[in-house]
Amino acid sequence: MIGLENIEKQFGDLMVLKGVSVAIREGTVTALVGPSGGGKSTLLRCINLLEIPTSGAVRIGNDRLEFHPGQKVTTAAIQRLRRQTGMVFQNFQLFPHRTAIENVMEALTTVLKWPEAKARERAAALLEKVGMAHKADAWPATLSGGQQQRVAIARALAPSPKVLLCDEPTSALDPELAQEVVDVLSDLAREGTTMVMATHDLRLASSIANEVVFLDAGLVVETGPAREVFDNPQRERTKRFITTLT
Ligand code: ADP
Ligand code: MG
Repeated sequence: MIGLENIEKQFGDLMVLKGVSVAIREGTVTALVGPSGGGKSTLLRCINLLEIPTSGAVRIGNDRLEFHPGQKVTTAAIQRLRRQTGMVFQNFQLFPHRTAIENVMEALTTVLKWPEAKARERAAALLEKVGMAHKADAWPATLSGGQQQRVAIARALAPSPKVLLCDEPTSALDPELAQEVVDVLSDLAREGTTMVMATHDLRLASSIANEVVFLDAGLVVETGPAREVFDNPQRERTKRFITTLT
């Protein structure tokens, strides 16, 4: 359903992604793991086009966009693809001057032009789903990190994206608060939400991922079902990484 085809991304002289291909099936959770600086965040940002790949192609459902060095991509094409994705960031990034429910409503009223009442109803249902209904009218600054991240997940899901992209969703949280977020993501995974998650939390990855993509220095070193990659890594590089973390 989602295809990354031979993605290259260059920042100045630095080639950060060196031809990465990943196929993601609908209803699965794919974990991007690997050492810091390996290109996990950049790859996620290439899926929703927060970064424009230098070359390669991104496909989400029936929409496919090709990239060529020096070629300008239209804003309309970027928006069309991006609207099929929802993004959750390490540091939540809620709008500070909007309440929890207003954060969740934002894209529905501004981008999709839903009437206020309908947007509020959907936002309330999503807050309920992430266990945050009781804080609907709270300001982000008054919420714990785990609560903010749960609101951020509701916000990302509001426009019914085809894929939820999560960049280190638990890394800024103490273990206890991280667990609240893991529980919400596990529920979503069980319900069949398609997710791609960059994480160096192997416990999170092994608890909810179906597929693992191990990325090092801009290349896919190993990929496969999560159980196989974690329990029986085939590549020396993957083995070393997993044993240092466990
Ligand atoms: P990871 O998420 O796996 O830690 P990143 O995708 O953040 O890796 O980074 C991969 C490499 O790309 C790093 O060397 C990083 O410094 C570089 N990089 C990321 N974003 C930019 C940018 N906007 N400009 C220049 N270099 C960048
Ligand atoms: Mg990163």
